[in-house]
Amino acid sequence: MFENLGNKLQDILERLQREKTLTDTQVKAAMREIRMALLEADVNFGVAKEFVARVSEKAVGQEVLGSLDAGQMVVKLVHDELIQTLGGESKQPVLKTEGNVVFMVGLQGAGKTTSTGKLAKFYKEKGRRVLLIAADTQRPAAREQLRTLGNQVGVPVLEVANGETPAQTRQRLNEFQQTDFRDLVIVDTAGRLQIDENLMDQLADLQTALQPTETLLVVDAMTGQEALSVAKTFDERVNLTGLIITKMDGDARGGAALSARFVTGKPIYFAGTSEKLTGLEPFYPDRVAGRILG
Ligand code: GDP
Repeated sequence: MFENLGNKLQDILERLQREKTLTDTQVKAAMREIRMALLEADVNFGVAKEFVARVSEKAVGQEVLGSLDAGQMVVKLVHDELIQTLGGESKQPVLKTEGNVVFMVGLQGAGKTTSTGKLAKFYKEKGRRVLLIAADTQRPAAREQLRTLGNQVGVPVLEVANGETPAQTRQRLNEFQQTDFRDLVIVDTAGRLQIDENLMDQLADLQTALQPTETLLVVDAMTGQEALSVAKTFDERVNLTGLIITKMDGDARGGAALSARFVTGKPIYFAGTSEKLTGLEPFYPDRVAGRILG
């Protein structure tokens, strides 16, 4: 019944006595181990603490149900709570027939431009008429990179010129739409190495001009502790509607996903699984729950 269980939980399961009610001592011992496992997976410290408190509250005094013993019951509670915290079921953005504008936001290097190309391919293959907007005027090679990706996928790319105002970009988009109508516009916005006010102001101005229907934060799975403050700040300033976790093909166990989801409450729609355009998959909370527990 626990196919995705990590070794850590298996160990705890074996150590716990096979009793019929969960005692305070049992739960405490198990939760110490769970907290360690979360920290090792780079889950933010505060999130790990709160997560453990939440599960403990549910666990203590709980009657052990049916054929389960006490150990299995703790494991089930932790596993279920992790999946719930990661969003429960796998979800996809709900797009309208037309008028979809998706903003891709995030720090430089998170994989924003790459993910923009991947989404273009994903939605083109679903029959969408996609237009890309290269609005990352911050990173020198970003616009050229997006142009190349657009060519590979076979979708047009509108490039924002240096010094162009958001209103001018809106105007150019309107003109484009009149000659070559697109039902899905994906905007690769500017990132910075660190969050700063200037970046947030710029993003907010572009949002006002282009009125996105989705604003997706691209988070690097390797980010670790910092994922929490990045997600929190972006959500406060530009109102995120969802998340994409990149570089899940690396060594990172996925703690960044848990932290970002925990602090924003927004769904994680996709996981990046390679540098290639094909490296985009739906995000499956149950799989990542197992991976976080190692
Ligand atoms: P941006 O500054 O956020 O636009 O970042 P880029 O899209 O340029 O990506 C930064 C680096 O991460 C590049 O070398 C990408 O090839 C790489 N990258 C992006 N997404 C993934 C992913 O899901 N897996 C792996 N392995 N590499 C990725």
